[in-house]
Amino acid sequence: MRAVAAILLFMSGITAGAEIAEIIFINGNIYTVNDKQPSAQAIAVKGDRIVFIGSKADAEKFRADKPHIVDLAGKTVTPGFTDSHCHIFGIGEREMTLNLEGTNTREDFLATIKERVARTERDKWITGRGWIETFWKPPQFPTRADLDKIAPDNPVFLTRADGHAAIVNSAALKLTNIDDHTPDPFGGQILKTNGDPNGMLLDNAMDLVAKNIPKPTETETEQALLTGIDREIKLGWCEIQNAGSELADQEIIRRAYAAGKVKLRMINAAYGPGEAANALLKNGATLNAFDHRFTQRTIKVIFDGALGSRGAALLAPYSDRPDTSGFLTQKPEELRPMFEEALRRGIQVETHAIGDRANRLIFDLYEQAFKAVPPSQRKIQEPRWRVEHAQILSEQDLPRFAKLGVLASMQPSHAISDLFFAPARLGIERLARAYAWNSLIKSGAIICGGSDAPVERGEPMIEFYAAVARRPLPEHGLSVSAPSGVELGSPNKDKDSGQDIRWPHRQDAYVPPPGEGWHPEQAVSREQALRMFTINAAYAAFEENDKGSIEVGKLADFTVLSADIMKIPAPEILKTRCEMTVIGGEIVFAATSN
Ligand SMILES: [Zn+2]
Repeated sequence: MRAVAAILLFMSGITAGAEIAEIIFINGNIYTVNDKQPSAQAIAVKGDRIVFIGSKADAEKFRADKPHIVDLAGKTVTPGFTDSHCHIFGIGEREMTLNLEGTNTREDFLATIKERVARTERDKWITGRGWIETFWKPPQFPTRADLDKIAPDNPVFLTRADGHAAIVNSAALKLTNIDDHTPDPFGGQILKTNGDPNGMLLDNAMDLVAKNIPKPTETETEQALLTGIDREIKLGWCEIQNAGSELADQEIIRRAYAAGKVKLRMINAAYGPGEAANALLKNGATLNAFDHRFTQRTIKVIFDGALGSRGAALLAPYSDRPDTSGFLTQKPEELRPMFEEALRRGIQVETHAIGDRANRLIFDLYEQAFKAVPPSQRKIQEPRWRVEHAQILSEQDLPRFAKLGVLASMQPSHAISDLFFAPARLGIERLARAYAWNSLIKSGAIICGGSDAPVERGEPMIEFYAAVARRPLPEHGLSVSAPSGVELGSPNKDKDSGQDIRWPHRQDAYVPPPGEGWHPEQAVSREQALRMFTINAAYAAFEENDKGSIEVGKLADFTVLSADIMKIPAPEILKTRCEMTVIGGEIVFAATSN
């Protein structure tokens, strides 16, 4: 392990009364995210806290007789990266089932499935997730005929990356009795070709088939949790904020922590309204349990659908389908009493709102609750409620984040994935306030950064790149014109932009030229991007006194990277690897040399 080569230091005088560190990290290129001391070379840790940050020479004063010295060999260190919005069980399940992310061609996608079929018993279900046709040529949905050729006997159910669509084969349709007479369920669509189901199921139509798939056992669910956590730590995440859980999930999470199996820190939200939210309101928050690793004080509400499937609730109709403006998934009047109780009980609320209508209405609801329960009646005076995604905002609502002290919890990768089809959905005008990171920051809002994995890949370097470059990943083609001030690799000659042609009705849509509508001016600075995934994420969980920067007294959580992401050209950010993950002063992951 080249990254953790221990070296001996020359003896030097130990200052009387100085704290003796148990581990000292030296020769780091350390970004502290502390304005008073932005950079340093050494960190000394005692127990799980930082006792010193500064120069290598000064760190010497903290050494014991047999100190554990870790030579970082000039590598870059940031405060521990936090994913402010992800779904940990889904991340693990994606690893355990057929993981289709990164299958960038139809042939790749089919070959991966074929390989799985070959080692699966006949008649057994094959499930998986992560495919997306945006970059296939042509960018069209797969069909059940494609799957039948390679999987004639096993029922197959493969969820699109966004979780809002699935492709199934004929064996799966047959088990479900779906045929050309089956009507679309409420909130869903069975896509058809010449009147015949072609295997694509949207939103609630997915449930028709999914309910026949054998449920994972409790052991498998626990395995998914641990697999997901293991992946997160290897990528350099020190904390995740899990965006929703039911009571059964919470049991499994608590058991895993109680058994000492989990090093990753987790802020867990309970889905609401419903029994998980009711239990949280009744029993109150759990703070810093299991050695400061587990906190649960948040209710997660899902208020509308997603943009890709046109479920996001908009103020005006979709540009590529004027007969719909999306829909809300909760009735506002049913949220009101829960919100007021949450304020009284010191429970945070975070609400998924993507469309501009959903965002406006959630602000109305938050505002009403804040008025109905004034600070004197709240357990926590400044409740730091959050809006998750906040993707499309109207001009009048954008300033409400700063005004009401509501946090915007945003996922930079959503922008660089969605901006391939968002111009068709929204038209060019509405894109001015879509994924509007810089406008929000200028308005005084605090953005905490996340990935929404497994909807997106869930890698810190992809998120950081997306935030600062606001351009597609190189494997998705660089067909978008270069934003000014952003360093680029050599542009891809291929001008096939992967413009969305997968949804019905889009024939009427305005499809802008490739690259139009990406709004490079909404990309953020490296400093801002780093804050989104460190100190702002900590603030969003009421933890800025313990986490989010490398300062004396804070928990010793940091991420060691193979390159200086604050200085290298943007495309190189994507090649940067996690060298080491340190949680509470413990090296929980170290890359081996290759
Ligand atoms: Zn999510």
